[in-house]
Amino acid sequence: MERILLASPHMSKEGYELEYIHDAFDKNWIAPLGENVDKFEQEVAELVGIDHTAALDSGTSAIHLALKLAGVKQGDIVLCQTLTFVATVNPVLYEKAVPVFIDSEPGSWNLDPKLVENAIIKYKPKALIAVHLYGLAAKIDEIKEICERHGVVLIEDAAESLGTIYKNQWTGTFGDFGIYSFNGNKIITTSGGGMLASNNKEMIDKAVFYSTQAREQEIHYEHEEIGYNYRMSNIVAGIGRGQLNVLEERVQQKRHIFETYYNAFKDIPEIEIIREGDNERANYWLSTMIIHSDTITPKMVYDALNDHNIESRPVWKPMHLQPVFKDYDFVGTNVAEELFNKGLCLPSDTKMTDEDLQRVVDVVLSVFER
Ligand SMILES: *Cc1c(COP(=O)(O)O)cnc(C)c1O
Repeated sequence: MERILLASPHMSKEGYELEYIHDAFDKNWIAPLGENVDKFEQEVAELVGIDHTAALDSGTSAIHLALKLAGVKQGDIVLCQTLTFVATVNPVLYEKAVPVFIDSEPGSWNLDPKLVENAIIKYKPKALIAVHLYGLAAKIDEIKEICERHGVVLIEDAAESLGTIYKNQWTGTFGDFGIYSFNGNKIITTSGGGMLASNNKEMIDKAVFYSTQAREQEIHYEHEEIGYNYRMSNIVAGIGRGQLNVLEERVQQKRHIFETYYNAFKDIPEIEIIREGDNERANYWLSTMIIHSDTITPKMVYDALNDHNIESRPVWKPMHLQPVFKDYDFVGTNVAEELFNKGLCLPSDTKMTDEDLQRVVDVVLSVFER
């Protein structure tokens, strides 16, 4: 049996990506810049409904530059969702700032707005990083309102949620800064890449400046600040432009995968499949289950799937439980920890056929003896 993957790159069957790459080759716009970078930025901005974007080499770089542009300096506090991938918080440490981790709410698995408000009052942070985990929207409008009221810069980590629409607005466009990732397993990929989004032109211009070694506008190479080599290449941007043509198709397939699991497991009382809220169109980047059982653990389902050559993955281990971050404060109870202990990400690869999906369903059901 062929291996079923959690999520893997899925190029368009039409070959759009190669057309843009060939175009770059023909014009010898291989690197560093070229039409694909400019167009990819414009096309993403138009699609999500934001004024300005900067194409970068990763989502992590985008978070790093957002923190710099937010004015985060050594010793400043940055509030951060604890239930996330480590890339959300690593850039806080690059700047020698101090993360404080915030628990999730059970519904969206994302930041609990009540905890956010209390933490802002207690810690007086410079910035807050909210995440739309697995493509499910955070209560980002409430969080934005709280941040505005307290003068805290909101950075929206939409690395996993391109295509998720909350209250008729694309995730990644609520915050002072939004970031997207085009890493290999994200809903669309450029092989590796990221983007910073903002309605503030000055900030995005500054991001481009920092991402190209902070070179001043002189004929010679003049430098007044420390910069980075974070810009996206023109070849990579070509893959991104091609992938944009199939984003909606990928969202629909992710939603089909979710529906299949949801319907297959809805009569099993021990299984809960996490679902989008009322005001939301989730991209369901990864369909995720919670197991409410004293006898069946996520590891048992993981092992059973693995025995059938099917990949699954535990829910992100919360940052406040990571050894590397053990010295930092945490605000909350055990919501994220419980999701980690009871959760499992099911295969959500858009290349799966309905037969593949049935294979996954059958193995999961067998663990629950159904
Ligand atoms: C993937 C991811 C990132 C980082 O993006 P890269 O492009 O891999 O650097 C950041 N945050 C979250 C939540 C992610 O899933």
